[in-house]
Amino acid sequence: MTSEVDEIPPEMLRARPRTIYVEMTSRCNLLCTYCPVSQPDYKGEDLLMEPEALADVLLRAQPDEVQLSGHGETTMLRDWTRVARLLLARGLPVTITSNFAKRFNDEEIDTLARFRAVKISVDTTDADLQFQLRRGLKLDKLTDNLDRLVAHCESNFIEKPFLHISCTITHLNMPLVPDLVRWTHARKAHALALVNLVRHPDVEGAVKILHPSEVDPQGALRAIEDAQRIADELGVRFDMEPGLVDSLEVGQSWQ
Ligand code: SF4
Repeated sequence: MTSEVDEIPPEMLRARPRTIYVEMTSRCNLLCTYCPVSQPDYKGEDLLMEPEALADVLLRAQPDEVQLSGHGETTMLRDWTRVARLLLARGLPVTITSNFAKRFNDEEIDTLARFRAVKISVDTTDADLQFQLRRGLKLDKLTDNLDRLVAHCESNFIEKPFLHISCTITHLNMPLVPDLVRWTHARKAHALALVNLVRHPDVEGAVKILHPSEVDPQGALRAIEDAQRIADELGVRFDMEPGLVDSLEVGQSWQ
């Protein structure tokens, strides 16, 4: 007697990962205040693997997504587009998280346009605050890169990658999250996600950051409510990392 499982081809039953992160480098061209990269003992390094061998390994695993980033900034590597294009040519579903801090050349923009999804970390629409939090990130440069990516897709009739804005919240940028929803919509991105702050030791010489639950949890909850309402009106997807609202509600109950 054969069961339904017996009729499924064996390769379909093999466990396979949904997402594989390829950390091409753990170095970064920014020094965000909340990131381990800013800690004095942090040491980044590059992945030493031939792109063809990497593609072979990835193809064998058949993932739904190959994210070309881990803890570092892939686009600071000189030949990152060569690796990305090779993986794309082999049919892999490539995505990336990037800080968009450097000005991309046309080839880099065209490569990003062919990704399935691009997540861009943007913490606030206030350029001065952004510069303080991310230590080196210029908002106008980031915005120009994003606008050029969207324009490139539109003028070449390429379907845009899913454009995801990611914001790490602190007590300083939390009140401005509703503005960031409007900015996300104006830039023609699809979604905004709030990332919960993980506290590391304070960084000497950098602006001091706190979790919003330590300063004004009620104000933070109101900002989230406003942001959600604006996102619904504008058709922007609005996500939050699990635990963020819980931490604010706990913080509120202590006040
Ligand atoms: S851009 Fe990302 S990896 Fe680089 S310092 Fe900022 S949070 Fe860390």
